[in-house]
Amino acid sequence: VLELRPNCETCDADLPNGRRAFICTMECTFCASCAEGTHQRVCPNCGGDLQPRPTRSAWLALKYPPSTKRVVKKAG
Ligand SMILES: [Zn+2]
Ligand SMILES: [Zn+2]
Repeated sequence: VLELRPNCETCDADLPNGRRAFICTMECTFCASCAEGTHQRVCPNCGGDLQPRPTRSAWLALKYPPSTKRVVKKAG
């Protein structure tokens, strides 16, 4: 099951389930402005392409709650 992370790894913006967000194949998660602006749709961690994150439907979100663990990459 996809780990729906609650924030952008670059700028720590909140990205709750349903908010427009981008992920790579390794589930690195970014907000739209970081993904499309800063990173040009390429994951800065693994080099994979960033794709729009699918929204988890309500019943699935109950069964598989979105992650609450915030992941932030310190700017370097
Ligand atoms: Zn961001
Ligand atoms: Zn990645």
